[in-house]
Amino acid sequence: MENFLKAQRGSHVNGISELKTYLHRFGYLLSENANFTDAFDVTFESAILRFQSNLGLSLSGKLDFDTVSQISAPRCGVPDTIFSTSTFTLHGTTRHYAYFPGKPRWARRMPMKLTYAFSPDYTIRYLSSSQIKAVFKRAFARWASVIPVSFSETEDYVYADMKIGFYSGEHGDSEPFDGVLGVLAHSFSPENGKFHLDAAERWAVDFGTEKSAVAMDLESVATHEIGHLLGLAHSSVKQAVMYPTLRPREKKVDLQLDDIQGVQALYGSNPNFNVGSLSESDISTNQALNLRSTTRLSSISAIASFWFFLNLIHFFSSM
Ligand SMILES: [Zn+2]
Ligand SMILES: [Zn+2]
Repeated sequence: MENFLKAQRGSHVNGISELKTYLHRFGYLLSENANFTDAFDVTFESAILRFQSNLGLSLSGKLDFDTVSQISAPRCGVPDTIFSTSTFTLHGTTRHYAYFPGKPRWARRMPMKLTYAFSPDYTIRYLSSSQIKAVFKRAFARWASVIPVSFSETEDYVYADMKIGFYSGEHGDSEPFDGVLGVLAHSFSPENGKFHLDAAERWAVDFGTEKSAVAMDLESVATHEIGHLLGLAHSSVKQAVMYPTLRPREKKVDLQLDDIQGVQALYGSNPNFNVGSLSESDISTNQALNLRSTTRLSSISAIASFWFFLNLIHFFSSM
């Protein structure tokens, strides 16, 4: 970390090549050649700036603590939407929700009814099917409460609009999963409907009984990925459900104003929804979007994930 903190344009620091691989993987570094060096060059610096802008971090262009901590955090496999250079300035960007290129959404008559099903073959054994179904029912219900779209589970996997499954490693869509932590899940923009979770994660439905330090909250990830299925890309608002990273044992299931505004711009509002139904804390969180969290808890989890990152670097360099 010391070395990263001091690094700037012109430096060579062990581990920068792995950071470049990450930035390339998520769409920040465009390069034909994936053999990256440890040089902190101009291209790397601008990739860091774009990453910082997309993740709502301060735009230092350096490997500061927040930046390295976000790079080391478990995350969604969907690449982040890159803002065009015209809207990206050093003086800040608007932090909010985003869409996929072309702004795709499900085009059905309103009120819309969509179905989802679980793959009978690609599943995990340590959670019961009723536990998994209950989690997804709650996750779909959150989105349904804000837009005029309803979701129902069907047994008919082949004809379901949205298809959910747990997969390991390479699984046929050239977006292989990477084992414990790292990439957690990915799903596709409308009207594809595919929702894939990394079967190698320790998925939790209840942190009271699941004690693993690397456990990931299934409901938080389900809620996030459903946002993609509906047409939302990643948000740069840290508190939003559509933010790309999630810490082990973190629960983030309540839609924030940013998520709601984003999805309502695609589908309109559920007639029964009113902003007043958001709790006081949701509203104040949303109002404090641009304030950096300085709680002790968040720095502890950042340190924990940096520890994970060091191990990752060690793993890569021993390969
Ligand atoms: Zn995502
Ligand atoms: Zn996949």
